[in-house]
Amino acid sequence: MSRTFPKAGVDYPGSYGGVLAWFPDDEACRDYLDWLRWPNGFRCPLCGSATGWRLVDGRWSCRGCARRVSATAGTIFHRTRTPLTIWFAAAWSMTSDKQGVSALGL
Ligand SMILES: [Zn+2]
Repeated sequence: MSRTFPKAGVDYPGSYGGVLAWFPDDEACRDYLDWLRWPNGFRCPLCGSATGWRLVDGRWSCRGCARRVSATAGTIFHRTRTPLTIWFAAAWSMTSDKQGVSALGL
C-alpha cells in the first residue's frame, strides 16, 4: 500500500502569503473544505447521491434526498459565525510556528 503525503504549495499553502492568496474569501475556504471532504466531487452522506448543487449559503443540496449538507459539518468549523478566512489564518499561525501561538498573539 502506498501512501501519499500532502505537499506544501500543492495540497496546502506553503507560506502565510500563500494562505492569503489561496483563501481570499470564505467561498475559497469552502471550496477547499469541499475538496478535502469530497476529493472526487460531492457525495451525499445520507443517500450517497453524487449529484447536488451549492446553495447561496455555501451548503450543498442533494438531488437524491434534498438534504442540505455542509462541508463544515462535523468539523471544528461547524456552525461557526467567525469567517473561515479568520479560522484558516489562525490554523496557519498555530501550525507554522514551532513555539506555538499564544491566545493573545492569535
Ligand atoms: Zn442525499
